[in-house]
Amino acid sequence: MKKNKVLEEILNEVDKHPEIMSRREALKYLTMSPLAASVIATASVGASTASAASADVKGKIVIIGGGLAGMSTAARLNNSISDADITVIEPDPISVSYQPGQTLIAGGVWKIDDIVYKRDDFVPSGVKLIKGSVTSVDPDNNKVIVDGSQEVTYDQLIVAAGANLNYRAIKGLEGEITSSGKDNAATKKVITQNGVHSIYFQDGAVAAWEGIQELIAKAKAHTGSEKLQALFTNPRGAIKCGGAPLKIMYLTHARLVEAGVRDKVELTFNTNNGALFGIPDYNAPIVKQFEERGFKVNYKHNLAEIDSAAKTATFNKWWMEKKEFEDEMGDPVIKEVEVSEPVTFKYDFIHVAPPMKTPDVIGKSKIGSAGSWVTVNKETLQSSFFPNVWAVGDCAGVPMGKTGGSARKQYKVVVENVIAAMGGKETTAKYDGYTVCPLITGLGTVMLAEFNWSKKPTPSFPLDPTKERWIMWLLKVYMLKPMTIHGMLSGRA
Ligand SMILES: Cc1cc2nc3c(=O)[nH]c(=O)nc-3n(C[C@H](O)[C@H](O)[C@H](O)COP(=O)(O)OP(=O)(O)OC[C@H]3O[C@@H](n4cnc5c(N)ncnc54)[C@H](O)[C@@H]3O)c2cc1C
Repeated sequence: MKKNKVLEEILNEVDKHPEIMSRREALKYLTMSPLAASVIATASVGASTASAASADVKGKIVIIGGGLAGMSTAARLNNSISDADITVIEPDPISVSYQPGQTLIAGGVWKIDDIVYKRDDFVPSGVKLIKGSVTSVDPDNNKVIVDGSQEVTYDQLIVAAGANLNYRAIKGLEGEITSSGKDNAATKKVITQNGVHSIYFQDGAVAAWEGIQELIAKAKAHTGSEKLQALFTNPRGAIKCGGAPLKIMYLTHARLVEAGVRDKVELTFNTNNGALFGIPDYNAPIVKQFEERGFKVNYKHNLAEIDSAAKTATFNKWWMEKKEFEDEMGDPVIKEVEVSEPVTFKYDFIHVAPPMKTPDVIGKSKIGSAGSWVTVNKETLQSSFFPNVWAVGDCAGVPMGKTGGSARKQYKVVVENVIAAMGGKETTAKYDGYTVCPLITGLGTVMLAEFNWSKKPTPSFPLDPTKERWIMWLLKVYMLKPMTIHGMLSGRA
């Protein structure tokens, strides 16, 4: 295996812990995994290398959103089409920052500088950038409007606008933040202080690490017989990185153990869902990990309100009941309906995972769905309504799969299909629903949950994927960022 910086970093870390794993063993695992091999390959080639452009197709491609999925798609199209005409529309100067690292920042493992990257350094050569926001979409006339006035026409439109963080859907919280996290002034009035935290935006992640340290200090000074309360929420509906609400709970636990105050704090996970994880093979070990760590869990609890002055959080506790109705003919019919009651919890620390949706300007336009995502064929990622419109990344209305790992599979499918469509050919590339959640279960352990629409594990390593492992922690901390920043964003990984 050719050595490179990423590999060296991992092997140096392995050398510090011979009691866990030998260098030889680590190398064995890394060479056997296609995922790891791809990281090592991309990191050793260097970011500037592009594959030879070959497709000779014509047309103007416009991409809404230059975050991870949008910029990677631009790079790959640029690598693949000779004389490409590509425009990316993106307002945020740090749109390509590494969002998965926000969990590590909140856990006190990384600093903010480890994840911030400048958009302008990642615009592929020859690709045009419009530094603005799309304010309306007009797919009947093949055009979008930027910042209310600039008309931009297209032959192919690729939507990569991410998932907005809809904090204001929870009473007592404010603001709706665009996915990369820039416009957070309203939200920060409540979240980031007084024990209310959220790692889903950069400033929130930094504040969450401070919040965990405040909790530890409070626990050290705590002499009362009742435990302090740390609450972790998980909302209704699809969210990006569905594992993040769990990861921050595991990291908080680990930091409390490290500080010797775990027995002073009760940790409770209140989830809207009926399980901790949507894939049964992964849910079972997570339930066991919860038991081992003494975590409490309340299922079917959806956060509705936070009173930050009183330090209380109110959840809609919901269940299904059979009720009698009349049909159009006046005959009785039995239907299952959802009913709920409010339940209020006190907290000293609360982590909020907000409900999400793609920006309304897109989700509520003619290319959007009732659930506010872009309506696409889940395999080809082509719009269900307009054949020259595509979606990639978190904004795509596909079941599961709002992760960078999913975007890594999706953007290749979109590039292949867009080029085929531009050349008048059939679109044959298909996304299989692959997604990955490196579930951080402690400081030094990760359970690498990979799966697709089969709802079965699809591991990249020849190891039992339901086990917590240090080698997966090394993958998460050392490998996935270079793969994203050097591999995906140059259109190669
Ligand atoms: C805390 C956290 C932890 C995560 N952990 C992981 C992990 O461990 N593994 C993993 O694979 N993934 C993880 N993710 C998810 C991953 O970061 C996202 O899935 C990925 O960034 C999606 O890329 P995207 O391009 O679809 O969206 P983004 O990268 O969010 O980019 C969307 C872009 O669209 C732009 N935009 C929005 N509206 C408009 C508009 N109207 N006009 C123009 N541009 C617009 C935004 O400014 C933004 O730059 C995590 C995310 C978070 C927040």
